[in-house]
Amino acid sequence: MGKIQIMDEWLSNKIAAGEVVERPASVVKELVENAIDAGSTSIDVFLLEAGLTSIQVIDNGIGMDEDDALISFSRHATSKIHQEHDLFRIRTLGFRGEALASIASVSKMTLITSNGESGTYVELEGGHVTTHKPGPLRKGTDITVAQLFFNTPARLKYMKTIQTELGHTIDLMNRLALGNPQIAFRLLHNGQQLLQTNGRGDVQQVLAAIYGVHNAKKMVSFQGESHDYKVSGFVSLPEVTRASKNYMSLFVNGRWVKHYLVQKAIVDAYHTYLPIERFPIVALYIEGDPYLTDVNVHPAKHQIRLSKEPELLKLIEETIRETIRGVIRVPQMEKKEKAAIPATEQLNIWKPTPKLDVEKMNAIVEKLYDVQTVQESSLPPIEKPQVTVTEESWQPSLLTASNPVENVQKELEQVPEQETIKEPFPALEVVGQIHGTYIVAQMEDGFYLIDQHAAQERIKYEFFREKVGQVNPNERQALLLPLTFHYAADEALILRENRPELEAIGVFLEEFGQSSFVVREHPSWFPKGEEQEIIEDLIEQVLTTKKADVKKLREAAAIMMSCKKSIKANHYLTKEQMDVLLQDLRQADNPFTCPHGRPVLIHFTTYEVEKMFKRVM
Ligand code: ADP
Ligand code: MG
Repeated sequence: MGKIQIMDEWLSNKIAAGEVVERPASVVKELVENAIDAGSTSIDVFLLEAGLTSIQVIDNGIGMDEDDALISFSRHATSKIHQEHDLFRIRTLGFRGEALASIASVSKMTLITSNGESGTYVELEGGHVTTHKPGPLRKGTDITVAQLFFNTPARLKYMKTIQTELGHTIDLMNRLALGNPQIAFRLLHNGQQLLQTNGRGDVQQVLAAIYGVHNAKKMVSFQGESHDYKVSGFVSLPEVTRASKNYMSLFVNGRWVKHYLVQKAIVDAYHTYLPIERFPIVALYIEGDPYLTDVNVHPAKHQIRLSKEPELLKLIEETIRETIRGVIRVPQMEKKEKAAIPATEQLNIWKPTPKLDVEKMNAIVEKLYDVQTVQESSLPPIEKPQVTVTEESWQPSLLTASNPVENVQKELEQVPEQETIKEPFPALEVVGQIHGTYIVAQMEDGFYLIDQHAAQERIKYEFFREKVGQVNPNERQALLLPLTFHYAADEALILRENRPELEAIGVFLEEFGQSSFVVREHPSWFPKGEEQEIIEDLIEQVLTTKKADVKKLREAAAIMMSCKKSIKANHYLTKEQMDVLLQDLRQADNPFTCPHGRPVLIHFTTYEVEKMFKRVM
C-alpha cells in the first residue's frame, strides 16, 4: 500500500488555521468581514483580555438558515463564489470559505444565527459540533470565539502582551470602520468602549472617532477620476503629521489594503510641504472594476495587484497635490499651554474670525478638553508600540458614553469653512527685526513673524531645485585646485555605476588611477566657497544609498545647497535686505514652509491680539 493519504478535514483545517488565524486580531478581521459581507448596518465587537479569553461579534445582517449554519464550518464552504468566473469579479471581502472552519478548529465557538424565519444555535469545540439546537429569531448573527488556540499551545506562546494584541485589533477596527462609514461599529474591551462610529456614511466623523475631532477638522476632502479609476477621501493639512506611515489607510473597492507605491504617491503629492520623515493622516478610497484589482494574492488579502498602476498612481498624486496646494495657508499662532489659560480662552486653536459664534465655540472647547482629560486616564496603558500601533495613534477617542456620536457629529458640523480657502501670499510691510532672527511685518489684518533663515532656505531651495533639474554644460567653472578622491574598491565601483546620476546633478568624476577620481570643474551656480563641501556631500550621499535615484538625488542636492549659506539666526539685516527677502519669498512656489517642512511665517490676527489684551471677548 502506498504511503500517501488524503489528510482528514479536521487536520487540514488546523493547518490552514496557521495561515489565516495568526492572532486575535485575525479572528476579529474574519468575523467582522463576514458580518460586512452579510449586509449588516451595525456590528458590535466585544473582547475579553484582548480576545484571548473571548471574542464576540454581533451583527444585524442576513443571517443563515439551519443548513447553512451547519455547513459554514466546513472547509471551502462559501456562499460567495460559485464558479471560476466569480474569482475575477470579487465584490465581497471573504471568498475562500476557510475562515470559519479554521477559527472553529482552534477555539471553542458558539454560533447563534437567524435569517428571520428560523433560528439556530450551534456550539463547537476544536471544530467538532458539541451542541446543536434551535435558537432565537433575532435576524443576524452572533458568534463567540472563546479560548482561542486552546488546543494549539505553541501558537498561544507566540501571543504578545494583552496591550500588543489589543493594539492590533484596535488598529484593524479603525481601518474597517474607515472602510465602511455606512456601518455603525462598536468595539468594547473588558466593557470599556474603544471605538464607536455612527454608520451615517460620513468619513470625517469616523476620522474624528479615531484620531480626535481636533485632527479630523484639519483634514480636507479630495476627489478625482481617470478613465479606469475613481479616487476620493481625506488628507491632513501639512501641519498635522505623524512619524509613521501607518496613518495612511488605503481602500480598494472597500477593502483595506497595503500598497507601497500608492503610499509613495501620496507622500510625493505633499512634496516639500511635509517635514522630513513625517507622514500625513489619510483615508484614500480607490474604486475601479474588480477585474483591475487582484486580491487573490494572499489568504489575509492585505496585498493587492493593480492593473493600470501608473495611471492610478498619477491620478492619486495629482489629485492630492492639487488639494494640498488649494488649502495651504500660513500657520496661525497657536497656544499650547493648556493649564495657563482657561479652556474657555482656547478659542484660537480654531483660528476664529469675528464672524464665528463665540459662545458656541466656547461650549465645544470646554467639552473637548474635559472629555480628553477624562479619557486619557481611563485608556489602557500601552507598552512599547508595535508596528501597527504607535504612541500617537493612542489619541484618545472623543467618543464615550458621555460624549456620544451625535455630539462629535455636531462639533464637526461647526468646523469653520475657512480651512478650504486658498490663501495667497500676503503683501507685507516690514516693521523690523527681533533678536537678529525674526522679521516682523504687518498687513491690514494683524502682523506676521517670519523666520528669516527658513525664508531664505525656501528661496534658495527653489532656485537650486531648478538649476539641479537641468545641469547645463555651458555653465561650468574650473576649480582652482582639482579635487582628488580615493575610495575602497567597492566604493569606487558604486561611484562608477552611478556616474550618470552624479553628472545629472553637476558632479563630474574623472578616473584617476585605481579607485581614485578627480573633479576639475563644477556648475558655476554651485554655492560660492562651498563647492568642495557640496561635491563631497553629494558623493557621500550616493555611497550611502548605493543606487542613486536621480529625482531623489536632485532633491537632496537642492536641499543641501539651500541650507549651506542661508542667513542664520542672530544676523542683523537692513530694512532693504528684509524687503528683498520678502519680495523673493513672495515669488516662491511655496512660500509657507522651508524645504524641511517647518513654517516660514506665523500669522497673528488683529482679533487674536485684541483678545489677548481683552479688548474683545
Ligand atoms: P467566506 O467568507 O470566505 O465565504 P467563511 O468561512 O468566512 O468563508 O464563511 C463561510 C460562509 O458562512 C460564508 O460564505 C457565509 O455564507 C456564511 N457566514 C459566515 N459568517 C456570516 C455572518 N456573520 N452572517 C451571515 N452569513 C455568514
Ligand atoms: Mg469570511
